[in-house]
Amino acid sequence: MSTPAADVWLTGGTVFDATGREPFRADLRVSAGRVAEVVALDPTARPADRRGPGVVVEDVTGTTVLPGLVDAHAHVGILRLHGQAALPAPVQAAMVFAVLADSLAQGFTTLRDLGGVDGGLVEAVRRGLVPGPRLLPSGQILSQTGGHGDFRGPTPGGADPCQNPSTGADGFTLPMLLVDGPDAATRAARAQFHRGATQIKVFATGGLLSHGDPIEAPQLSEAELRAVVEVAADRGSYVTAHAHSPRGLQRAVRAGARCIEHATLVDEETVELMAAHDVAAVGTLTVSEVLRVDPASLGAGPVDAGDSARLRESAARAIDALERAGVRLGCGSDLIGERQHRRGWEVALHARLSGASVALQRATRVNAEICGIADEVGTLEVGKVADVAVFDGDLLAHPDLLMTTRPRLVLAGGAVVSRTPRDHRDHRDTEEAS
Ligand SMILES: [Zn+2]
Repeated sequence: MSTPAADVWLTGGTVFDATGREPFRADLRVSAGRVAEVVALDPTARPADRRGPGVVVEDVTGTTVLPGLVDAHAHVGILRLHGQAALPAPVQAAMVFAVLADSLAQGFTTLRDLGGVDGGLVEAVRRGLVPGPRLLPSGQILSQTGGHGDFRGPTPGGADPCQNPSTGADGFTLPMLLVDGPDAATRAARAQFHRGATQIKVFATGGLLSHGDPIEAPQLSEAELRAVVEVAADRGSYVTAHAHSPRGLQRAVRAGARCIEHATLVDEETVELMAAHDVAAVGTLTVSEVLRVDPASLGAGPVDAGDSARLRESAARAIDALERAGVRLGCGSDLIGERQHRRGWEVALHARLSGASVALQRATRVNAEICGIADEVGTLEVGKVADVAVFDGDLLAHPDLLMTTRPRLVLAGGAVVSRTPRDHRDHRDTEEAS
């Protein structure tokens, strides 16, 4: 992303800086891609005139000014769970580029991608060839044979028995890799870092959208998990594990995983173990809500309705238990599909359980901490990278606005990367009509 020449003043908005401070009216100056000043406004004084040579003034009175949102669980390269490989690679690429641009327009300036794309897509964005958020890719998710990442039929065919033949485009987006045995796990983890992964994702239990692997079943042996953790630690990185149920989750924690995705069916013992090991959790509420209201949009095929309802109910209890135990808790949409336009839902759904301020901090500062980039982004403090999302209205009072509106203005690295006209900010109608 290029550094803008002019300083930008965002004037008159209510700043939610995500440090835990109450929102306050302030003028915010961006210079050389960073937050340069945050000047709290005295309600009795006349507003300062910020105009001047080389200065752009954006009057954002009546808005909430947030740090750019971070989705800690994205899959920009998973467009369909079945049959994606039937799409020509350029078509898949065009769809992924559209998802990236649309993520910016939703106010998301960072995506931790947990399976699919690799460093090649990061390079395309970094060079400015396509607009997109900061991307932290995982490459392929490591799964055991017969695990949550094994989308082959019961009688597998295809040239490479370790690839899922119907998903992705080689060299661009491949979601899963099947590994069995510690040596294979070591090799697979090294291969992901070689292609630009910033962290490794593993499947440590069964899940919802795969078949033949129960949610209760632990996946990957402790030796396999330890092998992956060792490779990540050698790279100064970490492993995050998809885990719904206690046995596999506890095994991943004992093996050294630093983060758990979903953590939906946790019991007291599991939550205490996570807290004792300072392991973070990323709650994912959006997908089960989308499965309830619009399952076709995920392209997921038939889903066990009982499993889906059970996970939705237990996720709310899990978030409560994780919060009470003091586990660092972030949030991620886990959206897949060609249109990933509901990233904001995750924040709104967390707000219903934990309040708007906590939810917005999860989606900014805490997610940045989990991603290991909190020195640079996640709060609106002087010196931080100027990733900013400006939403009409009071998001703290009305967090459901994140389900229905787009930000009027989004800055990434101090540059305006998205500006949505007033008529297009409410996206309820287009969404329901599609
Ligand atoms: Zn996922």
